[in-house]
Amino acid sequence: MVLSYDTELMPLTFEVGPSRPPSESQSLLIRATRSCPWNRCEFCTTNKGRKFELRAVGDIKRDLDTVRLIEEQIKELAWRRGYGDSVKEVAASIYENPITDGYRVVALWLYFDAQRVFLQDANTLIMRTPDLVEVIRHLKQTLPSVTRVTSYGRSKTAARKSLEELKELYGAGLSRLHVGLESGCDEVLKFVQKGVTAEEHIKGGRKVVESGMSLSEYIMPGIGGKRWAKEHTAETAKVLNAINPDFIRLRSLVLRDDLPLYQKWRDGKFELLSDDEVVEEIAEIIQELEVTSYLASDHIENLLPDVEGKLPQDKEKILAVIKKYQALSEGEKINFRLGRRAGYYNSLDELHDPIKYERVEQILRGIKLRGEDVEDVILSLKKGYLV
Ligand code: SF4
Repeated sequence: MVLSYDTELMPLTFEVGPSRPPSESQSLLIRATRSCPWNRCEFCTTNKGRKFELRAVGDIKRDLDTVRLIEEQIKELAWRRGYGDSVKEVAASIYENPITDGYRVVALWLYFDAQRVFLQDANTLIMRTPDLVEVIRHLKQTLPSVTRVTSYGRSKTAARKSLEELKELYGAGLSRLHVGLESGCDEVLKFVQKGVTAEEHIKGGRKVVESGMSLSEYIMPGIGGKRWAKEHTAETAKVLNAINPDFIRLRSLVLRDDLPLYQKWRDGKFELLSDDEVVEEIAEIIQELEVTSYLASDHIENLLPDVEGKLPQDKEKILAVIKKYQALSEGEKINFRLGRRAGYYNSLDELHDPIKYERVEQILRGIKLRGEDVEDVILSLKKGYLV
């Protein structure tokens, strides 16, 4: 049902940044800083061309006050429409047809029980600790339903903060940090200009864990290319073992044309792994892990979303998913790789759905008839250039 409410709500809004991790899709987005203070990683364009800025603490607090006002407006509207305390119906309708961006973000957050907040953009940890503490305390006071506050943070920044500072942030309410580890291999980190060493990854990661915060480390299978494939898998597992984060999340390398790494690939300085080689890398990393982390494959570009479970107890189960993929015939692999990138398959088991399988076969036949290369089509789909 679409509700008409334009004349009943105050046109309020607040600043929202461009990115969040996939696991924060239900979170309220609060912009604490703008862009990325590093902004040189050659596999990332999220903040390219955007200047890094710290936002004034007063402005962030004002945004939180605005969120509270929007929340009250939506709740009042739900009462007026006869839904009482149940806000979902009205929130869903406002999300579909928001009067401002702020209403869209708050409506989504209310729909999902208003418990999670993600502080944007790429490295909130770089704020002065007293400033970030002040923001988080204000957030908890203003939005008392919030139980989880998370943010992106760079290992290098975490390594530079004292353990006491990180504990203070945790005490104020910063419950989880999402860190882009990408690789544990120094050569790879240098090649892609990550701006951090394996040692700094370990130092920063361990400190975050010791502070009490939950830690999500993102790794990027394939980022070592063919040249450092062995080192990348071995060293990444080693760094993860040294940190033992709460979560290890897989994120695919997608070589979009506007990436500096794409230029290196064009110049023959970087050799891209095939999907099967990336899958093999993932298996090798998991094989070497000696952690108690939860492993997740929650990026939409990842080929195998079922590679997920708690380590060490689910290790064999996770590796069995990979072996199942590797045991497919070449025809089935092509069907799955194309179907997954075209949005037909959400898990490997769906390959056994005859309707989906046949639909993807039809697409494959069309590709062949047009004389296109199926690998080019899969690559384009990965980049989001085709739908
Ligand atoms: S630190 Fe993160 S946001 Fe910044 S350039 Fe690197 S990957 Fe992108």
